[in-house]
Parts: sequence; C-alpha cells; structure tokens
Amino acid sequence: MIRQFELVERIKAYSPNADEDLINRAYVFAMQAHGSQKRASGDPYFSHPLEVAGILTDMKLDCHSIVTALLHDTVEDTEATLDDIERLFGSEVARLVDGVTKLTQLELQSNATKHAENLRKLVLAMSEDIRVLLVKLSDRLHNMRTLHFVKTPEKRARIALETMEIYAPLAERIGMHQLKDELEDWSFKELNSEARMSLLIRLEYLRASGGALVDRIVAELESVLQGANITVTVSGREKAAYSIWRKMQRKNISFEQLSDLIAFRITVNTVEDCYKALGVLHSRYRMVPGRFKDYISTPKPNNYQSIHTSLIGPERQRIEVQMRTDIMHEVAEYGVAAHWSYKQGSANTDGKQYRWLRELLDVLEHASSPEEFLEHTKLAMYQDQVFVFTPKGDLLNLPRGATPVDLAYAIHSELGNICVGTKVNGRIAPLRTLLKNGDQVEILTSKAQTPSPAWEKFVKTAKAKACIRRYIRNQERHQYIELGKSLLKKAFLEVDYIFTEKAVEGIYKRFRAQSLDDLYAIVGQGDLSASAVIATIFPGSRETEDPAGGSMPSLPDPGQHIPSSQGEKANLPIRGLVPGMAVHYAECCYPLPGDRIVGITMPGKGMDVHTIDCERLEDFNDTPERWVDLSWDTHQGEEFQHVGQIIAIITNEPGSLGMLCTVIGKSGGNINNLRIIARNTDMFEFIIDVQVKDLKHFTNILAALRASPNINSAERARNITLSH
Ligand code: MN
Repeated sequence: MIRQFELVERIKAYSPNADEDLINRAYVFAMQAHGSQKRASGDPYFSHPLEVAGILTDMKLDCHSIVTALLHDTVEDTEATLDDIERLFGSEVARLVDGVTKLTQLELQSNATKHAENLRKLVLAMSEDIRVLLVKLSDRLHNMRTLHFVKTPEKRARIALETMEIYAPLAERIGMHQLKDELEDWSFKELNSEARMSLLIRLEYLRASGGALVDRIVAELESVLQGANITVTVSGREKAAYSIWRKMQRKNISFEQLSDLIAFRITVNTVEDCYKALGVLHSRYRMVPGRFKDYISTPKPNNYQSIHTSLIGPERQRIEVQMRTDIMHEVAEYGVAAHWSYKQGSANTDGKQYRWLRELLDVLEHASSPEEFLEHTKLAMYQDQVFVFTPKGDLLNLPRGATPVDLAYAIHSELGNICVGTKVNGRIAPLRTLLKNGDQVEILTSKAQTPSPAWEKFVKTAKAKACIRRYIRNQERHQYIELGKSLLKKAFLEVDYIFTEKAVEGIYKRFRAQSLDDLYAIVGQGDLSASAVIATIFPGSRETEDPAGGSMPSLPDPGQHIPSSQGEKANLPIRGLVPGMAVHYAECCYPLPGDRIVGITMPGKGMDVHTIDCERLEDFNDTPERWVDLSWDTHQGEEFQHVGQIIAIITNEPGSLGMLCTVIGKSGGNINNLRIIARNTDMFEFIIDVQVKDLKHFTNILAALRASPNINSAERARNITLSH
C-alpha cells in the first residue's frame, strides 16, 4: 500500500506547487470513511482508492484529480455525503467526485453490453470533465488488476466483457494507448485465457530462438541513424497479445503468417528529424509496399501522431517501425493526459465528429497554465443527445430535448399511439418532461388512448412528429369517409333509391377519386356535393316532378317542396344551397329576406331553412353536421314574394277587420291567408299570412298595424302550432 508521504512525494515530483494539505486531508478522510471495509482480496478497502490515485500520478495528473481518486468511492460506499466532500474539499473536487459516482451508478443500472456503443457515448456525455473519465478509467484498471480475487466466474466474465467493450474503447478514444492495452490484456486473460497463454508461449519461443534478435536490431538501427547525425532512442517491443489475437481474427491468418510481432519505436527530438530518419531507413533498407503511413501530417482522430513503415530490416527480418517525437510519444502513451505537460501540441486535426478534440487542443494552445487548461477541458461530447434507460435496462439515445413521447415512438409507433403517461426514475411525470442523461423511463399505456394533437408541439424527434400527424390525418379522413357515406345515403333516398356501394363503384374515377373511400372523403369534406354524385349515377332523376307547381308557381308556400336545381326558373334567392337538394322554408319561423338564416338537412327530405333565432334549432344542437350556412341573395330577391306570418289581436268592433286589411293593403302587403284562432266578446286573435318582399317590408306592415286604433297588438308569429 502506498503510504501517505509517498503519494505526496510522487505528486510533488511533477507538480511542485501541489496542495499538499489537501492531499493529506483526503488521504485521512477516505481511510477513515472506508474504515474496516474489505476488498475481495481481503485487503482494506482503502487500498483501492489509494492505488487508483497512484495510477493517476503515473499519468502526472493534477492535484484535484488525485484527491478525487482518493475520495471516488466514499459517496457511493460509505456514510460520507457529497455535502461533506464539498465542505471539506471544495466545490471542484465535489463536482468531480459526483461525476465519478454517477458513472459508477450508471454501471449498476445497465449490465447490457449489447448497448455498448450507447453506453460508451453516455459515459462520454456524462463525463463533462475529462478528469472524471480519467479517474473512472483508472478505477477500472485497478479493478481489472485485482479481478482474480472476485469469486464468482460469471461476475468476473461480466466485468471483463464490460471492460473490453466499454472502457478499453473509451481509453483508446481519448488516446490513452497504454491504459487501453492493459485493460484489454486483463480482459483477454479473463475471457480467453488459453488463447492468451498460447500466444505468450509462442512469443517467448520466438524470443528464445532468435537469441537477442530484438537487441541486435535495436543496436543496428541506432548506429545507422546516429551515423546520419540524428539523436535517437530506439526501442523494440513485442505487440500486446490481444492485438496480435485480434489481427489473427480479423485477417484470418495464422501466427506464423504474422510478420509484425515486434515493433520498433524510434523517438527523436523534432518533426524534421522524423522525416530525416525515415529517409535514412528507406534508402538503407527495402520498404514493404503499402505499409507506409504518415500520421504526422495527418494525425489520427484521437490526435495520435507518428510515421509508420515496414522494412526488410537488419538480418532480413520484416519489421514494423514507428517514428515520432518525444512529445508525440507522450501523447500516444498517455493521450489527453499528456497534454498539460506539453502545451505546444499541434492542433491540425480534422474530422467533424472530433470537433471536441480540436476544441480541446484550442484550449490547450491558449491556456496560460495547466490548471486553466483543465478548467476548460469540459468534454462537450454528445451534448446534442440524451441517453435513457428503459425499465429492462435497454439504453436508447434520443436527441436532446426529447420527451417520454419521443421515447415511446422510438421504441414502437404503436407504443406512442397508446401512451397515456410516464414514470421517470419511478415517479409519475408529465409527458412533456425533458429527458436527462441516465433517466430511467417507463411508458404507461392505455388501449383507449389516442395521440393528442398537442403532443406535436413538444415532441422533438421527426419520427414522433410524423407518427402523430399521420394518426390525426387518418382519424380525420376516417370521419370524412363516414360523413360522406351518410350524405350519399341521404341523397340516394331523396331520389328514392337505396344506396349501394356498387352504384358508386362505377363512377368514383370520374371525380378523380382514387378509391371508394376517397370519394366518400371528398364528399365528406364538402369538396363535392352528394347531389352531383347522384346526378352522375341517375341522370335526369329529379327535375321531373314539381309538387309546388299549380296555381302559384312563382310563390312557394312554406312547407312545400321547392325545386332549386339548375335550369329551374325558381332559383331561390339564397346562397349556400346544396345543388340538387330540396329546400323548404320552415313553418315554425317563416324566414324572410333580411333574417339571418340557416339550413338544416333533413334525412330524406332535403333542407329546411330556419331563422337563426328559431327555437326549433335547439333540436339540432347535437348534430352540427346537419347545419348548412346560408344567406340571402339580395340581388335576386327583388322579384320574389315571401310569406310572413303575423299574429294580431283586434277589438271586437264593427270595422276593425276592415281596417286591418286596409292597413296591410296600403303597406303593399297581400293577404294570403287569414284565420281566427281565438275570440271572445271583446277580442279576435288572427293569424295572417302576408306576401311581402322582405323582412323590412314585413316590419313596416307590423309597425303600421300597431299604429292603428282597434288593433291591440301585432307580432311576428313564432312556432305556432295550428290545430285547424
Ligand atoms: Mn472504485
């Protein structure tokens, strides 16, 4: 176990100004918090955070990272709270510890390596600070180093697989090659120990049979390059067993066919020397075609820089050589962790999805101190996405701003259509809740539910939007089809036919309808009248009979059938009529030009025209689809006579009735009908039907009547039921 003063000395070695007191306090705090807890190995638990801190000192990380490493399991595993950490160690350390704790909790939530890609992204999205990720990776490395102490084989395998699929790629992603190699080797050992052993044995055999081959090649390369006045360090290294194994798998070749089991690394001082060394080697040894790669002029996305080439080298061995500067070497081994030791790193990376790295390097270039660099090294990765768990532990990614409705539609459009509510992290939440990274989201459903048009306003994903729109459009269409069908049925009845689909089938194409339903929908939407369809199916079916004909063809009586089809002279002075549909003035209110009017379709009987204030309209409140908006056509109205109905009370005196008729006559009205509905010794009550031009005319007559002596009252008749 690393002792307290050793840890401080290690940090001081590369960071002389480190806060010694802070480190000491964290050391003591973590040791006391973990108390008598033990690891699977039987060691005190505190040895684990201490080792993790040690790994971070190898990366030369800053003081806050080391303190975070010491404290990283206290919030999750001991009585200590985040508030304690903040109070004792400050807000920055608290933020970092909180970040690591959240990543640990994430691990517990999902053991599903089948969502590895999303889980990797989620880890990156949640590691707002790169130090959080570095502590987490070091934590994992120490757990892998001590994995053999874990007793259950299933648990070991799960952890190893997770390391292989989540953490090693993450280490590679941020350029930590050494860390990645070690994580992979431990996992390989757990998951396929036999393959790893046989590879190690073969490598050992090669080493033994070649004598000091690697050493001899190193010596020769060194002398050749130094002879060209280049200051170099040459080292030879066997490739990691796992990377050989993967190469064998990927290329389907045997161990014997692998030529590059040994890699040589040449480190020089400057980029210039790199190319110089390359020239020397290529002129001295034959190069293997197709193996040359220049990652200096074009660095890898994770900022790896090097020149790679393969040569038929000393002793006619095929060897792989990598050339790089000291700085590039540090970056290659330690990735971003190396950046704050070398501020002058080059920044010419391209590739759009690695913008974060370029930004990181920008910060690096302009930061005046390593501390400032760290301060600004926020991992702004996948900030446009949000990762959430389903109750089964599946991990899905959605665009930032997504809601549970988006999630429901992402899983299945049918799930979206019947979604009624949601639970986020076990609690009922509004459907418009914005999801956060790591949320666990449950969708509540009901078969009776249909998507709400209001959802369209808050959903984020195109899929959810499209599904909601499609559903609503379908619903509307369904309603139009039903309405169109019933309008057609009605229209059939009016001409005394029974509606059959067969009758309509033959003609829908003439109305540019794609199908029968299409035709119904067009009729239902009002773009085509049912009567036009009837006229097409039964040409000339209606105009033959005219029950209003007779003595007064130009004077339609209330309640009588008034043909208004085109070609008839007696076109009613009303706008908004349905062509071909029979129209009646309602007997309850006797509408006159000037009244506001409305049509009510009467199944099988055409349309009644009512005044808008007619009491009978209440009967149709529940069937708004039967209401037709009508208005008078005043230009045509001149030549028409309409019937208005007056209810008048006159005194029972000689000459009273004569006066009534005279007043009406003088006002230009023509009495059409006159009935006594009540009488006693003093009064007569009359109903008088008067032909008038319009409402104004009618009102004038009423006024004249009221002005007359002997006439007690005169009103427009409303909803009078006559019993004659
Ligand atoms: Mn840990």
